[in-house]
Amino acid sequence: LKRYKLFIDGEWREGAGEPLPSENPFSREVWAEIPAADAGQVDEAVRAAAAAARGWARTSGVERASLMFKLAELLERDAEELARIETTDNGKIIRETRNQIRFAARNYRFFAGLADKMHGETKQLDNVAMFDYTVREPHGVTALLTAWNSPISLLSNKLPTALATGNTAVVKPSEHASAATLAMAALVAEAGFPPGVVNFISGGPEVGAALVSHPALGMISFTGSVEVGRRIAHAGAESLIPVALELGGKSANVIFADADLENAISGAVAGIFAAAGQTCVAGARLLIDEKVHDQVVEGVIERAGRIELGDPLAEATEMGPIATLPQFESIRRTIDGAVAAGAKIALGSGSPGDFGDALFIPPTVLTDVDSTSEAAQREIFGPVLTVRPFSSEEEAIELANGTPFGLAGGIWTNDLSRAHRVSRELECGMVWVNTYRSSATQAPFGGYGDSGYGRERGTEAIESYTRIKNTMIDISGAARDPFLLKT
Ligand code: NAD
Repeated sequence: LKRYKLFIDGEWREGAGEPLPSENPFSREVWAEIPAADAGQVDEAVRAAAAAARGWARTSGVERASLMFKLAELLERDAEELARIETTDNGKIIRETRNQIRFAARNYRFFAGLADKMHGETKQLDNVAMFDYTVREPHGVTALLTAWNSPISLLSNKLPTALATGNTAVVKPSEHASAATLAMAALVAEAGFPPGVVNFISGGPEVGAALVSHPALGMISFTGSVEVGRRIAHAGAESLIPVALELGGKSANVIFADADLENAISGAVAGIFAAAGQTCVAGARLLIDEKVHDQVVEGVIERAGRIELGDPLAEATEMGPIATLPQFESIRRTIDGAVAAGAKIALGSGSPGDFGDALFIPPTVLTDVDSTSEAAQREIFGPVLTVRPFSSEEEAIELANGTPFGLAGGIWTNDLSRAHRVSRELECGMVWVNTYRSSATQAPFGGYGDSGYGRERGTEAIESYTRIKNTMIDISGAARDPFLLKT
């Protein structure tokens, strides 16, 4: 059994709470023990980060960057090992975890490159006897909480920005997949970050709740469910600190008749069946122009029907198991509910194969799903695609916007005007045209509506992790009238 530790103030600590077993969703064996912090250790971690905050904020951007570049190098050096830990922990296929860790290193480098380029502005005031400038300052201690589906990658959307902008951090991964994040703490130590700048704690929801309500925090960034996101927004409201929320989605992938259908079909499959649908940006609702509906559905079923299921550590595997038993049961319940409400299973009614107790759900395509039903409205977070025809661009837009979420949307068309027109109408933070689930460190990532607020990646992320200070200086040397507002 692999045993992990907490990393607080530059030191490894045993968790004071009862350790949590970590189950491999493919073998169903408990393979690791995750430490659980108690309230005292959460407090220690935040205090360590608070004690380190002033020194870190005064460190030059070049110095911060050099530590971050070093961390990126170490992530690349250990990418294979970290990918194997993550795949063992959450069942995501090795091809993807490996790729995600390399992408994570890219995010650290991007923000390292910005660390010595933070700047404010000088302002030209009405009163020319005043000199005025702004600076961006860090919030202090950031609490960074992530979901179980892509722990290292999700953290790389937060920690690099926090560090580059001069914040310190307390990192809390999900209790369902903490191993890779805790393993990464060793790389933070090796890179040489000063003690307290980055702290790693783990444990269940109570550890998360203790962290987000700590009075010494300056900002919270959370990736996870809408329900917990709401609680975190409440905690932020109590402390009056900013919160950035990356929540779920129910994104629409819209295929118009003029699209390159072969690409569109492959994009539809990538959108929902990659990562077994356990991705916030999953293109879970496929909307198809009625003129090409049958042809597209046939193509999707053909490709999805020969997805290679299997051991997520095997190179050839295209879809691994569902990460946790509760998630597996929730997906099954939603499929059964949809069928009971009249939906038809166009693909996925059979057994996923001979995988013993492994948590497999076969790639599933549902048709005749009522657009107000749970299967069409709720985030399933599994390999389940709902399909629906539309007869006009207006109807496609209305259907695409027909959930409370607003994370992403896909448009497949060769009509340039239509691409821009529909993109403008989609109520979501990210639109892909003739591609889906493509990521770039330079492009801002985040949602509208129930998908949250605040942006990660891109220079836009700097807004979330800094606050503005304005300094106004009277350079006239003249005495003032104390009873007159100086403008
Ligand atoms: P979750 O909300 O159950 O848990 C996320 C984290 O919050 C965990 O670390 C958990 O311990 C902690 N937590 C739970 N209760 C808490 C509380 N009361 N206070 C503070 N922390 C608490 O989410 P999950 O099941 O781990 O992840 C799945 C969800 O994450 C899906 O909805 C998915 O869409 C979303 N997600 C979003 C993105 C994105 O970037 N938009 C990316 C990946 C996943």
